[in-house]
Amino acid sequence: MIQEPFMRELYVRTIQQYSRQPNEAELVAWLSVLGENSYADVDSALRRWSANTATDMHTGRIAGARMPAPAEIKSMILSFDRSQSERFQHCEKCHDGWIQVFEGKSMGGNQVSPKIGAAKRCECWFAWIDYKNAPGGQPKLVREKHEQPAT
Ligand SMILES: [Zn+2]
Repeated sequence: MIQEPFMRELYVRTIQQYSRQPNEAELVAWLSVLGENSYADVDSALRRWSANTATDMHTGRIAGARMPAPAEIKSMILSFDRSQSERFQHCEKCHDGWIQVFEGKSMGGNQVSPKIGAAKRCECWFAWIDYKNAPGGQPKLVREKHEQPAT
């Protein structure tokens, strides 16, 4: 939630960056479109926007050289949230998707030495791969115990 004085600060900083004159109606639009977001989210989306030096395929101009509409900042925040949630997150039982085992077979199919042990992929990693390979699938990074396939 961004209060009016803080949104004004973001707005004024942006119009100065693009050498534009302030417009109260525009500020009202920023508040209504972006007011529900956090200051940090809007701030970082604005920075990502202006840092975008890719050429706009429709206008042929540098994308970040144009002042963004509030709806464009909103959709940047939404797609950034989505890409963050699609990163692998390991469960509390493993170290970044790896577990240390001292019995059974290694990933290469060899007998694991009980003295040395071996690193194996954790179930959360396989759940993540399942998710990545299922387009439109629901994010399910960690399987619950009772959902494990019977062996
Ligand atoms: Zn895990």
